[in-house]
Amino acid sequence: MASLPFLPYGRQSVEEDDIAAVAAVLRGDWLTQGPAVAGFERALAARVGAAEAVACANGTAALRLAYAALCIGPGDAVVVPSNTFLATASAARHAGAEVAFADVDPDSGLMGVAEAEAAIARARKAGWRVRALAPVHYAGQTAPTAALAALAQAEGLALVEDACHAIGTVDLSGGHERPVGAGWPEVEAGSLTVFSFHPVKTIAAGEGGAVTGNDPALMARVRRLCNHGMMREPQAGEGFTDPDAALDAEGNPNPWYYEMAEPGFNHRLSDIHAALVLSQLGRLDRFVERRSRLMALYAGRLAPLAPLVRPPALVPGCRPAWHLCAARIDFPAAGRTRSAVMAGLRALGVGTQVHYIPVHRQPYWRRRYGDLALPGAMSHYAHTLSLPLFPAMADDDVDRVAAALERVLS
Ligand SMILES: *Cc1c(COP(=O)(O)O)cnc(C)c1O
Repeated sequence: MASLPFLPYGRQSVEEDDIAAVAAVLRGDWLTQGPAVAGFERALAARVGAAEAVACANGTAALRLAYAALCIGPGDAVVVPSNTFLATASAARHAGAEVAFADVDPDSGLMGVAEAEAAIARARKAGWRVRALAPVHYAGQTAPTAALAALAQAEGLALVEDACHAIGTVDLSGGHERPVGAGWPEVEAGSLTVFSFHPVKTIAAGEGGAVTGNDPALMARVRRLCNHGMMREPQAGEGFTDPDAALDAEGNPNPWYYEMAEPGFNHRLSDIHAALVLSQLGRLDRFVERRSRLMALYAGRLAPLAPLVRPPALVPGCRPAWHLCAARIDFPAAGRTRSAVMAGLRALGVGTQVHYIPVHRQPYWRRRYGDLALPGAMSHYAHTLSLPLFPAMADDDVDRVAAALERVLS
């Protein structure tokens, strides 16, 4: 067993046509903000059924742009489930806002309506102006988004879906098929979806991210903030102080002209990265299919290890594009610590990872908010172990993982 190649918990699948796409950019005229970025934005918007996509440097930048475009700032709060990567919360803090950490379902790791409501109530008691819900579509399954969208609308909040795990997932919670990223136009305070194309995610840019949405004004703001807050066209009513620079004799903007209504970021994606992720997007359906197949094999192969090991519970209301195989393991009942199980698996050539240490437990947040009681997130954390899942895995790699688990737990 140990002589087989090491199985990481996740791995990108880069093929020859991806390499050719990147090489073509390197031979061309634009290394950044050229046709690959524009092409990727069009293809992504079409794929997820959104009016528009803005490509950006990574998922963290996408979160930062989404919060900033919604004018979330000091005195405001964003509801974030504690079972997520650091960035969902940090990006809100960088905007100056507070984070109202929400609990999650201990099995699925997802924030539901009751958990969101409890976080809203706590935030309001603290005197914060709650501005947005930021559900995280953990492991590729969706939080109950239709109900969360209804809650957001009822409470006058925006909805920022952290879909870094969930490109390709189809949400069914609204009673019909809605690809994650299509957004919830009924949320009047704003609906944006955020993606990451880090190599461990379902499609890879190297580093990359995107924001999708349908509201033209909100998306224009995302786009502007992504590029220094710059506009090439004189904006009526913005009170620019150098009218000479604005227009040429024909009434067109002069080539050097730009104006800034608010400070932005440089969170742009390069054409090099865009070419890779555009090429990868063309294989998304294949990747999703392969991941589903592997998850089905896991369900069968892990069944004999119940109740010590359970595959992730399938939640109603979505058809997941599985990002993680976050198995539930009863370590105390197995008489093994998670650390020992991970080390034992590693020795047998099987990589695993833990998603996630609840964010509210991080020293920064504990200093800021003290010790919150979020038992669902703590229970989810205590039982979770992400097993290898990536498209290039062979069917019998699943057997290998299950056999290794059986050996380590026995
Ligand atoms: C990966 C990830 C991010 C951050 O994306 P980067 O591209 O790494 O910046 C944010 N939220 C979640 C849930 C993620 O998994």
